[in-house]
Amino acid sequence: MKYVTEFRSSALIEEGLRRLRLQLKRPWTLMEVCGGQTHSIMRYGLHELLPPEVELVHGPGCPVCVTPLEQIDRAIQIAEQPRVIFASYGDMLRVPGSRSDLLHVKADGGDVRVVYSSLDALRIAEQNPDRQVVFFAIGFETTAPANAMSVWRARQLGIRNYTLLVSQVRVPPAMCLILSSPNNRVQAFLAAGHACTVMGYREYPKIAADFGVPIIITGFEPVDLIQGILLAIQQLEERRAEVENAYPRAVTFEGNRYAQNLVAEVFEECDWPWRGIGIIPGSGWRLRPEFADYDATLRFPLNAITTSESTECIAGLVLQGWKKPNECPSFGSACTPDHPLGATMVSSEGACAAYYRYRWKGERLKSA
Ligand code: SF4
Repeated sequence: MKYVTEFRSSALIEEGLRRLRLQLKRPWTLMEVCGGQTHSIMRYGLHELLPPEVELVHGPGCPVCVTPLEQIDRAIQIAEQPRVIFASYGDMLRVPGSRSDLLHVKADGGDVRVVYSSLDALRIAEQNPDRQVVFFAIGFETTAPANAMSVWRARQLGIRNYTLLVSQVRVPPAMCLILSSPNNRVQAFLAAGHACTVMGYREYPKIAADFGVPIIITGFEPVDLIQGILLAIQQLEERRAEVENAYPRAVTFEGNRYAQNLVAEVFEECDWPWRGIGIIPGSGWRLRPEFADYDATLRFPLNAITTSESTECIAGLVLQGWKKPNECPSFGSACTPDHPLGATMVSSEGACAAYYRYRWKGERLKSA
């Protein structure tokens, strides 16, 4: 398949690894920001192909994993209310809240529906004018434009029975938080290519300069990832800290201006809590006051939230690159995809789920 097969070529992987070995003189620790990249690395066994001096740690770029516990508890409260249709991406249904999850609400008779986009949820609202439809608007820069579009369109069409429960987050503030920590291990980032497709990478040169770290905009196929790692190692060995775009088939410096303008019209930046990590200044998007009519937290009466997180789950440490999933004492024993203790074991982009799913062997790469 064009644009896929050639980016899984074992010959190109081997050439990238050969060039990497030539460059490499000392150990380095790199973080791939996005959970989709983590799954590719584990699926294709790239971490096992790298020289032992190159360590990959796994970043917080998994929207399900970082959705704060209190927002999941709010989702459950809303979904339990009569005449509510609660629409969500499928992964969110199994994420543990403090006392339950959305799947149990559904099993107990709640109208919880899996959708693939916010515009599907808006359509449900249009078709059910006597019901309140709430969409769980989670995600990074990649989902923000479509979620913004849904309320913009709802207002345009005069649809009043549609609201968002928002948990929108931004990547760059999380990168700054990781780099600011006294426990930081990250010496270079593989930035999330799809987030940059929307937002471009205008914010990254300042981060690279302020913290002295290379940032490589990287895609998701094995060749993309090896190229991103190679460019990062080249910079580290040459004592450079610059931003390079290794995903030019999708990413430009400016990004998608139309999507950015729509997001800016509907959302405004705010401080936001990340599950397991805490509040990161300027890392969230919330609905602007002009769109308050579409805010589920204002439409529905909600009880005070008292959260209760698993004491065994170390997902917050995993998401900051301090620990690997298989260093968690519960990994694969008390915590499995069937009985998850944390969101990183549930999500299709979660690092713990990736380690569990590919713990025996990943896929073998075939020559293109
Ligand atoms: S293995 Fe389970 S308990 Fe451990 S960090 Fe991952 S999600 Fe949390």
